[in-house]
Amino acid sequence: MKKTGSINIFTNHTEISEKTRAHLAGKLTDAGYKVTDSFSHETELIICVGGDGTFLEAVHTLDFPQCPIIGVNTGHLGFFQEISPESMDSFISDYGKGEYSIQTLNTVLATVTDRHGRQSRHLGLNEIVIKGRHSYSVHLYISIDGVPIEKFSGDGILVATSAGSTAYNYSLGGSIADPRLKLLQVTPMAPMNTTAYRSFTSSILLPADLSLGVVPEHQENCIFITNDGIETGYTDVKDIKVEVSDTSVRLLRFKNYDFWNKVKTKFL
Ligand code: NAP
Ligand code: MN
Repeated sequence: MKKTGSINIFTNHTEISEKTRAHLAGKLTDAGYKVTDSFSHETELIICVGGDGTFLEAVHTLDFPQCPIIGVNTGHLGFFQEISPESMDSFISDYGKGEYSIQTLNTVLATVTDRHGRQSRHLGLNEIVIKGRHSYSVHLYISIDGVPIEKFSGDGILVATSAGSTAYNYSLGGSIADPRLKLLQVTPMAPMNTTAYRSFTSSILLPADLSLGVVPEHQENCIFITNDGIETGYTDVKDIKVEVSDTSVRLLRFKNYDFWNKVKTKFL
């Protein structure tokens, strides 16, 4: 990776994050780095101070930057976040010595096409959620790689990346997927199973080269697409294609990082 000495710190503006930012900026400046508030082509590393929500905000605000990111946890859970405010000295030392690896996380892309052929794209690091308005159920024709699979009825469907499998997906009863697995996990949200409607009740796992097709039964109804918590409403949706995207997010990981150990300490 390109070493320019320029580091961008992104924070949510809570008191603890601001304090951590100031402390970290001082230490980095002493170590010879140039610390900036904005991201540019010169930036060699983004440090994100906050929780997972802040991490996701940084990724979206900076439009899925290709330079590495590292999170300092001052939030609630901090699943993406690698370091604590107390371990900044060892972080700066390990970083300077190049003692780290890069974890590449895949993203999920939803392409929405309306009845007039207009297209909009939404990228998610955690997931894409497709649901109806308020508390109405939705009826969605689901296909895999162009092959019709089911008519889903329920609250909606969630398509998670492996990195997002521990977020909303997990709360819905989806599986935890090791982020080294490049796949999509399609998890039903409150699927209806009656003599009137039949839907799969478990998650479906798709390999990276297969896409999911979603066609709303009633095109005129409002459909909401949410990528990592960012919601957009559509009427007139003809179809939605959901697939693994070429864009990835690169995280800095240090020697003590282990995904399953993180799952254990954060969830159990
Ligand atoms: P939020 O409502 O504050 O997030 C809910 C929780 O999910 C927070 O504790 C957050 O951690 C955690 N989280 C986010 N990404 C995670 C990941 N990859 N693995 C494990 N936990 C993760 O909203 P937010 O902070 O802006 O995060 C947006 C995400 O919230 C969405 O992408 C969605 O996955 C998730 N969400 C979950 C539910 C649910 O579980 N019922 C409902 C809606 C949305 P921090 O405390 O560190 O921020
Ligand atoms: Mn949050």
